[in-house]
Amino acid sequence: MDNKEVYENFDWSNLKHKDLADKIIKVFDIIPDDVNTIADIGCGNGVITNALNKEYDVTAVDRSAKALEFVNAKKVLASADSIPLPSYQFDMVFSSELLEHLDDKTLAGTVEEIKRLSKKYVLITVPNDENPDKLQIKCKKCGYKYNRPNHLRSFNMDNISEIFSEYKVLKSFTFGKKVRYYNPLLLNIKTSVTPSSAWVPYFWIGKSNRKTICPSCEYEFTNNYKFNIISSFIDTINAVISPKKPYWLFVLMVKR
Ligand SMILES: [Zn+2]
Repeated sequence: MDNKEVYENFDWSNLKHKDLADKIIKVFDIIPDDVNTIADIGCGNGVITNALNKEYDVTAVDRSAKALEFVNAKKVLASADSIPLPSYQFDMVFSSELLEHLDDKTLAGTVEEIKRLSKKYVLITVPNDENPDKLQIKCKKCGYKYNRPNHLRSFNMDNISEIFSEYKVLKSFTFGKKVRYYNPLLLNIKTSVTPSSAWVPYFWIGKSNRKTICPSCEYEFTNNYKFNIISSFIDTINAVISPKKPYWLFVLMVKR
């Protein structure tokens, strides 16, 4: 993956339990009663992992050594597409906000590993049917266009069910803050006809949170917003035609 350095250098102390408290309650709610062992794939700094580890026997996998320093559970430093753990050892394999970050090859390998480790259940949470290009940024140095949170793909019930076709969906729901979808055609027009400084307004990402690192050339810069009438007009049309949706999709599946 080309954003390996960006991932390793992420400020892992930043994500705290309070940011995910509501989500953690939902995760606990959906876990079936017969689950004792959990593998948490792409656990990041373990905000959810550490909560789960109080009630379950949790093994956490991440490829960032810095992120794993915050994790209390059993830890495995590994990429999600190549996990040095034996097959079918975990009642449930859990992965939260990981799959949307993966390129095609890594995604295929990761899905294989999730299926290989799971004895019975898989629980996936991903952003709910988002257009990842909504938060598109253009590098000031090399011109590379990228999604700010490095989301490379979008998921919904259909493509999750397809990827995990050997599994049956037991429960699914959307949850979290409602976020507006961005129509792909409108977004293409907006990013073609307006300067990149006008793509991500301050009411999407606040002024204090505009620092970004280009995944291509690793240049760090502040993505300041500059008002543009055409860009604002297109955003307004989008607000009329595109719905708001809860941010997360939870899918609990069981092996067929
Ligand atoms: Zn760059």
